[in-house]
Amino acid sequence: MSASAAPNLRLKPGRHRKLRSFYPWVQREEVAAHPLGVEPGEVVRVVDEDGAFVALASYSPKARFVARVLSLEDEPIDAAFFRRRFEQALARRGGPSPKDEGRREVFSEADLLPGLIVDRYGEHLVVQVRNQGMERARERWLAALLEAHSPAGVLERSDMEGRLEEGLERVVLELAGSVPESLEIDEDGLRLAIEPRRGPKTGYYLDQRANRAKFEALVRPGEDVLDLFCFTGGFALRAARAGARVRGVDVLPEAVAAARENAARNGLEAEFEQANAFDYLQAQEPEGRYNWIVLDPPAIAKSSSKRASLKWAIWKLVYHGLPVLRTGGRMLVCNCAYQLGWEATLEAVRLAASDRGRRCWIEAITTQSSDHPYLAQFPESLYLKCLWVRFE
Ligand code: SAH
Repeated sequence: MSASAAPNLRLKPGRHRKLRSFYPWVQREEVAAHPLGVEPGEVVRVVDEDGAFVALASYSPKARFVARVLSLEDEPIDAAFFRRRFEQALARRGGPSPKDEGRREVFSEADLLPGLIVDRYGEHLVVQVRNQGMERARERWLAALLEAHSPAGVLERSDMEGRLEEGLERVVLELAGSVPESLEIDEDGLRLAIEPRRGPKTGYYLDQRANRAKFEALVRPGEDVLDLFCFTGGFALRAARAGARVRGVDVLPEAVAAARENAARNGLEAEFEQANAFDYLQAQEPEGRYNWIVLDPPAIAKSSSKRASLKWAIWKLVYHGLPVLRTGGRMLVCNCAYQLGWEATLEAVRLAASDRGRRCWIEAITTQSSDHPYLAQFPESLYLKCLWVRFE
């Protein structure tokens, strides 16, 4: 089917402008006339109030965002289209990644493929399909993905809650080749195990890689480091390799076990403990023991209504962390919820520090690794905010 034959979705007056400025989502309220007889996930032609072509988009009739832009050109959305997109995503990342590393190869809207996430773990790919459009186009993008990346196996990890809003079921299945229960990647010389079926999201947090590397470069031998929310030891093992005494804490027993195994795998020493980070901090003696505290909590603010609780959680972590932080000690405060912005994150830190009577300096501000590109016209694609803070 040629794209031009796709049914029209007509926008209300003026609503085409943001799409032409590269914002990829159409909200329900912006639609003047819905296309008729269109199945969920089909490609529609988005047109302006005069009927002029604006974009090709995938249609999700049940979702709040009813259409998501695939292309601003009137072109067939076929395997060749997806192949071009994958090639562009590779070019954006400077070409193919070293074969045994982990890397996000496709970051949804920021790589002009709304709803498709592709993470590489060595020879294997783990994908997430977040909307009806990518669900329906699976055969086309899968063929193109196999061509562009020649993986040993592709696993789909589409078990996130967001699928339900789209009217999709949660699924985990092998799409091509085979993917073992446990994979191993190299991250800047560390060997890390990843369980693509059981871990969060696609199994690992690739987005923090650049921050983990920066952290390792800052930690000095003999320092004391506390990595709360340590998951499988991402930051903790970096500190151990830098010669620090390290303690990692996570609430998930499987994560703690995996962190210990990762430490052994790399011949590194670090203590890991299963605990709730909030309880853990409050149970500590106020002894100013640590040179560093890493705070990388999960995105508990999935909706804007939860924004206040995430801000409060950050305040709490900094507030209860300060008594165990040395004078001149540093915290790395991370917030991976798009809904809570830079200002609010900064404010949570500033307030907690003032409430404890400690001046603080923001020494650096960083974000997600560059394989999670930030498309400036799509603000939602900047989600990870990290503050490197030094306290009096
Ligand atoms: N820094 C890690 C990623 C952290 S993700 C890395 O670089 O890989 C957030 C982690 O917080 C998850 O592993 C989750 O199990 C853990 N977590 C969630 N709630 C927690 C709590 N209340 N206390 C401690 N850990 C918690």
